[in-house]
Amino acid sequence: MVQRDPIYDILFEPIKIGPLTAKNRFYQVPHCNGMGYLRPNTLAAMREIKAEGGWAVVCTEEVEIHPNSDNGSAAEGRLWDDGDIPALAKMTDAVHKHNALAGIELVHGGYSNANNYSRIPPIAPSTISVNSYDPVQARAMNKKDIRDFREWHRKAVSRAMQAEFDIVYVYAGHNLTLLMHFISRRLNHRTDEYGGSLENRVRLFREVLEDTKELVGNKCAVAVRFAVDEILGPKGITCEHEGREIIEMLAEIPDLWDVNISEWENDSATSRFEKEGYQEKYIGFVKSLTTKPVVGVGRITSPDTMVSMIKRGIVDMIGSARPSIADPFLPKKIEEGRIDEIRECIGCNICVAGDWLSVPIRCTQNATMGEEWRRGWHPEKIESKKSNDGILVVGGGPAGLECALMLGKRGYKVILAEKTEELGGRISNETKLPGLSEWSRVKDYRIRMLDKLDNVKIYLGSHLSTEDILEFSEESKFGFSHVFLATGSKWRKDGIARENREPIPGLGNLLVLTADDIFADVPVKGQVVIFDDEHYYMGGVLAEKLRIDGHEVSLVTPAPDISNWTHNTMEQRRIQKKLLQIGVKLYPQHNLNAVHNGSVELSCVFTNHKTHYDCDSLVLVTERVPNDEIYQNLQNSKSEFSKLKIKSFQPIGDCLAPGIIANAVHSGHLAAREFENVNAEEVPFLRERVKI
Ligand code: ADP
Ligand code: SF4
Repeated sequence: MVQRDPIYDILFEPIKIGPLTAKNRFYQVPHCNGMGYLRPNTLAAMREIKAEGGWAVVCTEEVEIHPNSDNGSAAEGRLWDDGDIPALAKMTDAVHKHNALAGIELVHGGYSNANNYSRIPPIAPSTISVNSYDPVQARAMNKKDIRDFREWHRKAVSRAMQAEFDIVYVYAGHNLTLLMHFISRRLNHRTDEYGGSLENRVRLFREVLEDTKELVGNKCAVAVRFAVDEILGPKGITCEHEGREIIEMLAEIPDLWDVNISEWENDSATSRFEKEGYQEKYIGFVKSLTTKPVVGVGRITSPDTMVSMIKRGIVDMIGSARPSIADPFLPKKIEEGRIDEIRECIGCNICVAGDWLSVPIRCTQNATMGEEWRRGWHPEKIESKKSNDGILVVGGGPAGLECALMLGKRGYKVILAEKTEELGGRISNETKLPGLSEWSRVKDYRIRMLDKLDNVKIYLGSHLSTEDILEFSEESKFGFSHVFLATGSKWRKDGIARENREPIPGLGNLLVLTADDIFADVPVKGQVVIFDDEHYYMGGVLAEKLRIDGHEVSLVTPAPDISNWTHNTMEQRRIQKKLLQIGVKLYPQHNLNAVHNGSVELSCVFTNHKTHYDCDSLVLVTERVPNDEIYQNLQNSKSEFSKLKIKSFQPIGDCLAPGIIANAVHSGHLAAREFENVNAEEVPFLRERVKI
């Protein structure tokens, strides 16, 4: 084992949290995961991997304390009654196996829950429409409701103790919690002792905190999660005023302060908009007001930043959700002096999308995330090779890099051939777009890890044809008998996508470009129209780039708003705001009907009303076509295979089906795991079934 640099020793100093001791400074803060009460086995296995990876504290996601706080279709934790204890105990057992502490984030969502499942009218400090577009209003709580809520919280604390949690949260963050709603001047219009002055608005928070402390005694630690700034200016809580005063008022009551900013889209900002450590300027003051340990987040992935934050007195423990998802073994890698092996989070929020879509969490960087139980994948372990067969991987994008790396780790002799002079595929291009520089970590990590493997040979500048592949397979120098085709995809130039299932008429009348042309520096002239019928980031980010380059840019999309799918990555509002601020003209709810000389014809998606718009260059962000020519050729020459060495070939990543980068990485990983190891089950992974 390589010895770590003593500069990182501070990260491995134990720290007292109330009656308990955390073994080091790595704290996996609560994070949602699309598993929750619906998928307890999946959840326990995922949390166990974090504990195994060295996190001293591993927390749940938010755990609802009562049917009065029902998150509906979102799969969060539940502790409504004793029947929910065993599912959560599964997680604490798993975490304790690795000498880590288990924390539980108890929540009542107040007006953030429409209670669509329980159908109980939601509650809030004052009557108010719920924090979603559900046609539901929360009712104002009376004194009995306040007493009931305290009792539900107390019961949940007792149940959390029965499930053997070590740290119990009182949660007032993210504008998602009843306690924060009471604190808020915007939401609390009460005239009794729970409304008005800050002291009154904080009363319930203090009471619940004291209730919790009293109940847990010396058995558990009590953590507070509190958003010190809502990024709303004077309308909200700010770190200069009420956020600061609240910390002063309650400074020594909890055993630990886990502080952040609100709402969730600010707390979990993507790398396109915020860089590592972006919360420091808000939370930096907290440690000066309390002697209790302080945890803070901000997509902190660099061990040097971690050391600096502790040494400068910003935090005592490094809070992490996304960095622990991208690399559950981050602490172990630092501990063992393997810093170059850290798989750094790229800040894309595909993990967050899992929660919004209510499917198990997935991660662009870590293909095993969410697959720990159902496929039995471990982020650091993979089954050894089953034969001495050689393998060719064609294409060094995310799919090819991941596939070659995993096959290499299994011990196979691998050749990775890339047609350009650079590994990375689409990453090498996209990372140059405004705000996306951190995405290069997808290739950088894999290139670093491949460099360590003597059994993987990389050939750059090697544009292979089908004939080359058939020929080289026979040469003893190469000698491979299996081929993985990771040759990617290209953007369509005919406009076909969701709204137009036939080519858009008249495309020959104008300069028509795609993202591939922009990456290849094909000159863009004059007034630009971008037509986005893909709806993820590409349309919006190209508009930003071309506007920065000095073009007049209009963005047309049939969707209700710009880069619509980025609602799932919590970026949509920031993207639309940015484009408006830099002067991109936006035309949502419009289709591109036809193209004329010097103009485009748009139509309203509802009325079909047509408008014409001047245009010199049209950029199409529509579907992509797989680069599967070699795959098709190999299919057609299968009859000759008996004479050749090739035993199998398979497309992966975008060559199989164009999609997001996370899918390409997963596809490469899956192919490598399943190679000579095929799972013959009809459903190739375990499912959590409802017991009948
Ligand atoms: P994915 O997302 O599936 O990994 P990418 O488009 O990012 O796909 O990467 C595909 C990679 O394959 C690119 O780097 C491209 O240069 C390379 N490539 C495509 N065709 C060939 C080929 N015939 N021979 C070698 N490399 C190829
Ligand atoms: Fe980071 Fe993206 Fe993975 Fe989330 S999905 S942990 S943001 S790399």
